[in-house]
Amino acid sequence: TPTCSTVQFAPSAPTQRRLMASEPQRHEFQAETRNLMDIVAKSLYSHSEVFVRELISNASDALEKRRYAELKGEIAEGSSEIRITTDKEKRTITFEDTGIGMNREDLVKFLGTIAKSGSKDFIENNKENAEAVIGQFGVGFYSAFMVADSVVVTTRKVGSKPEEGLQWTWNGDNSYEIAETAGLPTGTRIEIRLKVGDSATYAEEDKIKEVINKYSYFVSAPILVNGERV
Ligand code: ADP
Ligand code: MG
Repeated sequence: TPTCSTVQFAPSAPTQRRLMASEPQRHEFQAETRNLMDIVAKSLYSHSEVFVRELISNASDALEKRRYAELKGEIAEGSSEIRITTDKEKRTITFEDTGIGMNREDLVKFLGTIAKSGSKDFIENNKENAEAVIGQFGVGFYSAFMVADSVVVTTRKVGSKPEEGLQWTWNGDNSYEIAETAGLPTGTRIEIRLKVGDSATYAEEDKIKEVINKYSYFVSAPILVNGERV
């Protein structure tokens, strides 16, 4: 019989450990999502500015959804704004909206997969024309990955408790993390740390204003760049 001193006690398996509320959860992107991200990045390389249009249009959609909930009397009225801030030193651009926000299920479903059926085949057969497809087939958010080293989405859904905010983080690899974060306002904030090189110009206020004026005239909500209405 072995003596006690030779017995090694294995620590309890991680799967049996209860997850702490604040512990981040790691998710892998589906292979086909990753594949689409690569196609989007390659085909849009010379039109990278469309990510600004896509993120503004998502913010605008989120504001519309909140407005609809207000009209149905489900929630109190609040401000409708899209705030963009740039930081040249830190090489970041941030999009904030006071829209509907996302819960965990929304984050996994909407930002972790390309859900819409047919999008994969369609884009793969139209590689040269991917720009026209973007926005129509739900790859809009992914256009941000083109210019980014990392993307951090902090969000809280309208109607949820203040401690139910979430942070979704992508650091340039095949996975993303979701962690709980308390004390967020409702709505969504997307911070993009830009790649070194051409992409870094999106941290410049003048460049962003130029792109917004080109694309976002169709947005009814006020857009502020570094606190000033454009
Ligand atoms: P689409 O806008 O065509 O649905 P996107 O890739 O642009 O595709 O966005 C995917 C989904 O992620 C949206 O449909 C929406 O549900 C969610 N989403 C993206 N950005 C926001 C945001 N700022 N606020 C709330 N939900 C968002
Ligand atoms: Mg969109």
